[in-house]
Amino acid sequence: MTTTHFDYLIVGGGMVADTAARGIREIDADGSIGILSDDIDEPYTRPALSKKLWTDEEFTWDKVPLGTSGDTGADIRLQTRATAIRPDEHEVDADDQTFSYGKLLIATGGKPVPLPLEDRSNGERALSFRTAEDYRRLRALAKDVGRIAVVGGGYIGSELAAALVQNGVDTVLIHTGSVLGDAVFPAGLAERFEKLFRDAGVEIVAGSRVTQGEADADGVRLSLENGDEVRADAVVSGLGIEVAADLAEKAGLTVGDGVHVDAQLRASVDDVYAAGDVASYPDRLLGRRRVEHVDNANEQGRAAGRNLAGAAEAYTHTPYYYSAVFGIRYEAVGTLDSSLETVEDWLDAERGVVYYLDDDRVVGVLLWNVEESRDAARSVLAEADTLTRDDLVGRIR
Ligand SMILES: Cc1cc2nc3c(=O)[nH]c(=O)nc-3n(C[C@H](O)[C@H](O)[C@H](O)COP(=O)(O)OP(=O)(O)OC[C@H]3O[C@@H](n4cnc5c(N)ncnc54)[C@H](O)[C@@H]3O)c2cc1C
Repeated sequence: MTTTHFDYLIVGGGMVADTAARGIREIDADGSIGILSDDIDEPYTRPALSKKLWTDEEFTWDKVPLGTSGDTGADIRLQTRATAIRPDEHEVDADDQTFSYGKLLIATGGKPVPLPLEDRSNGERALSFRTAEDYRRLRALAKDVGRIAVVGGGYIGSELAAALVQNGVDTVLIHTGSVLGDAVFPAGLAERFEKLFRDAGVEIVAGSRVTQGEADADGVRLSLENGDEVRADAVVSGLGIEVAADLAEKAGLTVGDGVHVDAQLRASVDDVYAAGDVASYPDRLLGRRRVEHVDNANEQGRAAGRNLAGAAEAYTHTPYYYSAVFGIRYEAVGTLDSSLETVEDWLDAERGVVYYLDDDRVVGVLLWNVEESRDAARSVLAEADTLTRDDLVGRIR
């Protein structure tokens, strides 16, 4: 078996891999960078797969790849799945090859939670949604079939339902909440959010969990918990991800909800780091958490890359999260949980700020169509100990 050496080895070829390679190059112009990816595409911008590629004619496919290898010289090995990390030997096994490293970054993200479904269509009529290939397959289905069921009312399911209906597909969205978005938005806002989908023609099946289903070459049948059945020509699910931390766990690294890293994004063994969806890190303002969002992937990837190359800097960025549907863009920092107490501050019918309070302390800020205010939201969280509810209304404009 041959062993290939890289000064910097990144396991995972997603958004973190791209910014980490760029972060390495900010410090070290020459060190060799290897990226092992089980994907068939080089790193690309994932958020576009459920948004702009469907809704913005000017956003064409050439804007999706991130240009990682061209810009950084990284050697990207596609369709190469890492199967074991041996930290003492500084080695990683992948398929029938071994790679040795000076510094290693784990950036394996997560895998979509599967829909409980018997798929006899060989993936032709049933898919989850994470990769560029998933996008291409859904795009082809959107052209070829009449009716598509979307399962999951989180941001991926919502974005996909909006994307499909805006491309002329008869769309049914199945979600477990009473109203779409009611797990994160206050009740009135969730009603308005769901109305956007109904007005656009999406059929909403609320309060329903898919318990089983079948897919074959003719279509899909989904059974719901209450005994009802939904039929469609195809189904796409957005049920969240399972963190891909198994490699790290098997290698003996400390893993809880994700790979445990310190403020410099170092894992519990020497010369190994983790970043992005797979990493549990100590956020400066919000405490230890794992974040499944692109701003974190970009910023943490860059910080990890710099630290791999010797910068030894703490990651102090508190990430924001965003989503966009039907011309509305919302952003958030911190925890969004509608079971918390909320203070709403609407600037007009379409623009507003929602503060989420836990025990009278602000823990999350939602910016609804309010631009350029992420830093203001971060300062609210930074000052949470001293702010009273009266300080909140009018604070962000
Ligand atoms: C459709 C979609 C839309 C999104 N939209 C938004 C949005 O609007 N706003 C937002 O904030 N966030 C959004 N996100 C989330 C954001 O894209 C992720 O947070 C980000 O991609 C995480 O980057 P990552 O590098 O940690 O993981 P990923 O980008 O998932 O990359 C992980 C990589 O690791 C590879 N891999 C895994 N295991 C192995 C292994 N053993 N060997 C080799 N390779 C392996 C995978 O194939 C993949 O290439 C969206 C995600 C998706 C899927």
